Amino acid sequence: MCCNPLSNERKQQPAEDPGFLDSISGMTFFDPHVHMTSRTTDDYQAMADAGIVALIEPAFWLGQPRTGVSTFQDYYSSLIGWERFRSSQFGIKHYCTIGLNSREANNVPLAEEVMELLPLFIYKEGVVGIGEIGFDDGTAAEERFYRAQLELAKEANLPVQIHTPHRDKKRGTTRSMDIALEHGLDPGMVIVDHNNEETVKEVLDRGFWAAFTIYPFTKMGNERMVQIVKQYGAGRIMVNSAADWGISDPLAVPKTAALMKRTGISDADIRLVTYQNAITAFGQSGQISEADFATVRDVDQSGKYEGNTVLRGGQQPRIDKSSIIIS
Ligand SMILES: [Zn+2]
Repeated sequence: MCCNPLSNERKQQPAEDPGFLDSISGMTFFDPHVHMTSRTTDDYQAMADAGIVALIEPAFWLGQPRTGVSTFQDYYSSLIGWERFRSSQFGIKHYCTIGLNSREANNVPLAEEVMELLPLFIYKEGVVGIGEIGFDDGTAAEERFYRAQLELAKEANLPVQIHTPHRDKKRGTTRSMDIALEHGLDPGMVIVDHNNEETVKEVLDRGFWAAFTIYPFTKMGNERMVQIVKQYGAGRIMVNSAADWGISDPLAVPKTAALMKRTGISDADIRLVTYQNAITAFGQSGQISEADFATVRDVDQSGKYEGNTVLRGGQQPRIDKSSIIIS
């Protein structure tokens, strides 16, 4: 969950830049925050073509409130099941974080039921953290379930992926970190997401990982991102797309890498920010191995998940997107 871009007026689209893939040819990327459930097979194909080899899908809010615990159960099951399979069919290794998002924490009776469900999912293979959790409006219920999930993360020895609020971001970010430390979490196990120029210094100074969402029109543009990496270095910074059901860009990570390359950031630093740091941070779960990326690389799109494939009625695997003929 990132923002509510649908409420924002759409600005002028920047000119298309067909050459960006050339400048990052041969590079590989890891998008540590992208909601693929909301995206299409075209997006998966474009991401694979741009060099994305692995991603993390955090559990989030689906745009309208769920009304019962069984819909959470089915959603978590899909993150470790069907969606992981769908991703593999495009050669992309799919991981997820599991958690109760802040917005739905405000339905307290339902949130209590979801908390009982979480231990059944967080120990599953490919679950690399508790997330995305934290504050939305900053209510008492949000704080209660944020704290409960920090305890769960500590118990399971899993990294935490924190969603910071859009309103009053600086104060919400500080409070999120204060509470994590209060619960005895090692800041090196906590990825603070949706940073901006106002929050980054404190997050890094306190030893947390600083993630940045490159999200069109509303949050961080990647030109600003380049300046942040130039100022703070690549040490504990990572970028993601947070692409979801809103107006967002699942190619935000490779596009940012291309812009960094053109503006003189070293290949080593680009690799840290768009690939390695996410692996180092979330890899503390013991659930990420780069060797796994290779296992999905050579895909067979006729593969099946519980009898279902991504192909529909006699389709041929791998559509050539540059062809104007749809056969
Ligand atoms: Zn998100």
